[in-house]
Amino acid sequence: MKILVINAGSSSLKYQLIDMDTQLVVAKGLAERIGMDTGKLTHKYGRDCEEKFVVDTCFKDHTSAIQLVLEALVDKDHGVIADVKEIGAVGHRVLHGGDKFTASCIVDDACKKAIRDCFPLGPLHNPANLQGILACEAVMPGTPQVAVFDTAFHQTMPPEAYMYGIPMEYYKKYAIRRYGFHGTSHRFVSGRAIEILKANGKKADKIVICHLGNGSSLSAVVNGKCVDTSMGLTPLEGVLMGTRSGSLDPAVVECIANNEHMTVTETLNVLNKKSGLLGISGASSDMRDVNKAAEEGNKDAQLALDMWAYGIRKYIGAYAAAMGGIDALIFTAGIGENDAAGRAKVCEGLSFLGIEIDEAKNKVRGEEACISKDGAPVQVWVIPTNEELAIALDTLALTEGK
Ligand code: ADP
Repeated sequence: MKILVINAGSSSLKYQLIDMDTQLVVAKGLAERIGMDTGKLTHKYGRDCEEKFVVDTCFKDHTSAIQLVLEALVDKDHGVIADVKEIGAVGHRVLHGGDKFTASCIVDDACKKAIRDCFPLGPLHNPANLQGILACEAVMPGTPQVAVFDTAFHQTMPPEAYMYGIPMEYYKKYAIRRYGFHGTSHRFVSGRAIEILKANGKKADKIVICHLGNGSSLSAVVNGKCVDTSMGLTPLEGVLMGTRSGSLDPAVVECIANNEHMTVTETLNVLNKKSGLLGISGASSDMRDVNKAAEEGNKDAQLALDMWAYGIRKYIGAYAAAMGGIDALIFTAGIGENDAAGRAKVCEGLSFLGIEIDEAKNKVRGEEACISKDGAPVQVWVIPTNEELAIALDTLALTEGK
C-alpha cells in the first residue's frame, strides 16, 4: 500500500508518498505560497527522489494545491503511480491535539471538531492542518485519513510535570499547561531506542531523547512513556533553538515590550523568530553557519554554541534527576544526527552520570550508531528520526483492512 503524508501549513503544504512495503519515499514535494498571486510546486521523484520538476502556478487554496500534487503523482512523465486510487490512505501531521488526543486517530466528524476545538492552542498551525484534511476529503473522497498529533506522545506526563504554577482557574478556563511538541519524533526515536537497547541486552527503562534541529526539544521517557518534555504550551519553551529563545523569565517580555514599544504579540514574535542561535550569534539560525562563524573567531557565535550546549546539558541532568537515573541518552534531528562536536559539547562533564562519549565512534553522521565508550554505564546513541514514516505507520495501522 502507498500512503500520502501531508504536513499542511498556512501557506505551504509538504508531502511524501511512502511505499509501505519497502518503507521508502517514492515521491515528495512542497507546494508554496498557497492563497497568494503566484505559487510554486516542487515535486521530487525517482531514485532517492533526486529528479525534480517545478510548476509555477497559482494555488487558490489548499484544495487546489492538493489537486496539483495528485496530478504530479500521476503525471505521465514525472509521476510515480498510475492512478490516485493507489494511495490507500492519507496521514496528516496535526500540531495540537490538546488533552483530547493521546494517540493518532481516523479523521471523522468528532476528530475534526476536536482539531477545531484546539485552534486557540495552535492558532497558526491547527487551522492550516484542518485545511489540509478538508482539501484531501474534497479531492480524494472515500480515501481514509488519519490525524497524527505532535502533542499526543506527551499526554502521559503526570500533572506535576505538565502544570504551570499559575492560578488553577487559568488551567480550568483556558487549558493552559505544558503539552510538548515533536511527539511523533520522540515516540519514533524512543521506540527504536528501546528496540535496539533490548536487542543489545541493555537497560532501556529511563531514556532521555534530545531532538535537536532548528526547533529542539528533550523528553524523559520511562518504560516507553513520556514523563516530561521541554516544550510547553507552545514550542517556545525549553532549550535555546535556531530562532527561539527557549525558557526565560516571563518578565523579560514586559521589559522588551515597554522599552521597544512593542505589543506582547510582537515581543513573542521576536522570541520565536529572532532569538536563539540567530539572536545571540547575529550570524545565522543554522547550526552549520554558527559553527563556521565561531571557527572564524566570532565570539558571539561561540557564546551561542556555549549557551546551546549548556542549556541542553542542564535538561539532561534535570531529567536524570526526575527519572531517578538514566540508562540511555539519544541524539536525533538535524543537529543531533550530524553535529559530532555539538554532541560532544553537550555531554562534557556528564561522566558523573555515567555519560561518556567515545571520540572515534562519535564521528558518525546521520546513521544509527552507539557513540558511548565501551563499558560506560549510560548508552549514548544517534538514532535518525523519521516523522513522516512514523505518521505513515500510524496511518497504515489505523486504516488497514478498512
Ligand atoms: P527542523 O526540522 O526543526 O527544521 P532539522 O531537524 O532539519 O530542523 O535540523 C536543522 C538543523 O540541523 C540546522 O540548524 C542545521 O544547521 C543542522 N545541521 C544539519 N546538518 C548539520 C551538520 N552537518 N552539522 C551541524 N548541524 C547540522
